[in-house]
Amino acid sequence: MFKAWLITKTDAAGYRCQLSEVDDAQLPEGNVTVQVEWSTLNYKDGLAITGQSPVVRQFPMVPGIDFAGTVIDSAHPRWQAGDRVVLNGWGVGEAWWGGLAQKARVKGDWLVALPAGLTSRQAMAIGTAGYTAMLCVQALQRHWADAGVAPGSGEVLVTGANGGVGSVAIALLGALGHRVVASTGRLEEAEYLKALGADEVMDRQLLASPGKPLQKERWIGVVDAVGSHTLANACASTRYGGAVAACGLAQGMDLPASVAPFILRGITLYGIDSVMAPRARREAAWAQLDALLDRDRLEQMTREVTLADAAALGPQILQGQVRGRVVVNVNA
Ligand code: NDP
Repeated sequence: MFKAWLITKTDAAGYRCQLSEVDDAQLPEGNVTVQVEWSTLNYKDGLAITGQSPVVRQFPMVPGIDFAGTVIDSAHPRWQAGDRVVLNGWGVGEAWWGGLAQKARVKGDWLVALPAGLTSRQAMAIGTAGYTAMLCVQALQRHWADAGVAPGSGEVLVTGANGGVGSVAIALLGALGHRVVASTGRLEEAEYLKALGADEVMDRQLLASPGKPLQKERWIGVVDAVGSHTLANACASTRYGGAVAACGLAQGMDLPASVAPFILRGITLYGIDSVMAPRARREAAWAQLDALLDRDRLEQMTREVTLADAAALGPQILQGQVRGRVVVNVNA
């Protein structure tokens, strides 16, 4: 038996998420079983836990779109007992039992070897939010390399700055030598954002409402976790030839933009998906996270909770009240 959060949906009881004792025999039919050491709480986990959006596609479901731990048992050629692994996405926690549990069974193809320099706790302090931030930054890096843009030659905007994606993106861009502007609704957290690597903090209200199709050119790059008018305004104020990496929808799923910045300034909008990203991209992201991310800054943005306390944070993360990252000690 092991402990897991279990989401059920029935006509009689409705949508429920309860901490449960689960029999190993109930684990799904994967080819690798993992002793989960740490999990985490992402925005999507908040949606699953609360049922606010239909991300869970079958019931009962163990939520948790990511985990880090050690292989207990494997019938997959790449993995053997004792291997340290990390999992992000692939529909885990949505259509396949996930990481808010002490044990998980998944397809070996979904796993990535944990870089030697990262503990399983640090991997989950990064989590899917941080790995997605790295995918965004790597998209911008490829763009800048192609365009001959050097770090420090202009400002980079990060939206949703206090969130998980935003916090890690700031730390990564700062470490790469960029001048980072953090957009946030929580200006009282300015010192925290500067300690992570932001050079300037701006009020997100400046980006939140409908704006002109072309605005003053400012950003050589943008990491956007917010969508909607914020993303439209970010595109409209990106410098000639610059790029925007869009990964989130904290403000909204809409994109009320015009083609003007694309056809008059040649800007590029990169869509970033972490869930189905191919293995090579994942391994490259985790390798650069290991190499680049300052461990003290990572710790600064991380808060630790027990498995039992994790679900209570679901509504908070959806309301934008969680700062940085939350790691879940599933064995506490
Ligand atoms: P968090 O909840 O940790 O952060 C989101 C941040 O967005 C908040 O902290 C807040 O920052 C800001 N925000 C919240 N509400 C609004 C609003 N109404 N208008 C403007 N800004 C707002 O979430 P994550 O960082 O984990 O994820 C961010 C987004 O990225 C989510 O939409 C998530 O679904 C998406 N995502 C996508 C992935 C992909 O594969 N594409 C993978 C991971 C996440 P502040 O208080 O500083 O303003």
